[in-house]
Amino acid sequence: MTEVRWGKLRRDEIGAAAAAGATLLLPTGAVEQHGPHLPLDTDIVDANAVAERAARLLTDPPALVLPPIWWGLSPYWLSFPGTLTLRPETMLALVSDIGASAAHHGFQRVAIVNGHGGNAGLVGVAATQLAEHGLRAVALSYWDLLGEDLGRIAPGDAGHIGHAGQTETSIQLYLQPERVREPLPGPEGCADLTARMAEPFARVGYAPPDPAREAPLGVYGAAAAARPEIGKELIALAAERLAEFIRRFVAAST
Ligand SMILES: [Zn+2]
Repeated sequence: MTEVRWGKLRRDEIGAAAAAGATLLLPTGAVEQHGPHLPLDTDIVDANAVAERAARLLTDPPALVLPPIWWGLSPYWLSFPGTLTLRPETMLALVSDIGASAAHHGFQRVAIVNGHGGNAGLVGVAATQLAEHGLRAVALSYWDLLGEDLGRIAPGDAGHIGHAGQTETSIQLYLQPERVREPLPGPEGCADLTARMAEPFARVGYAPPDPAREAPLGVYGAAAAARPEIGKELIALAAERLAEFIRRFVAAST
């Protein structure tokens, strides 16, 4: 299997990838509480898995996966143990410094592959800053690639990424089942996304989570409905779509 992870390559391999016009994928996530049943690295494990699988599908030009930015913007989860949050300016500076280094080595394109909902606005700003280094940049959250298929494959979260609900729990049951604590939490103390998404304007705008009012257990979605097969299907589809997205991004920016 071709090695696509930046940190595992030797310097001549990086030089060859830059000369071949490789696209860089930069996973971003969060180190934050994910209910009583999932590990803190859930978001970064998900984004990294999608990015690595997509990179292996891309050959001409190839793609490399940069070392992920583990931490994100999660101040609303600090009320639970384990959450590590960045200031927005710290995250923007991290992405900008990594992008400037990549541009120095001759890379021309960076795609931020985000795995944490709270970062969504910030990674758009980060992409705008990357353009100042002469890079063609784009930012997306992996679940946006799934469109209506997200709600079809994981109906318990009503087409929303949720938080430690059916979608994320299914993906963890697939990617790192040894870190999932069973039994999975039931609806008590969790936000019911089926009801929330049925509200008018539910898909308009962004409001940060307010766990004390909305979900005392720190879970948004139907965790108990999670299955590893659902996670496997979501990751495979997101990787396939990301590869196609990158092919179009390359074509549009060449
Ligand atoms: Zn998450």
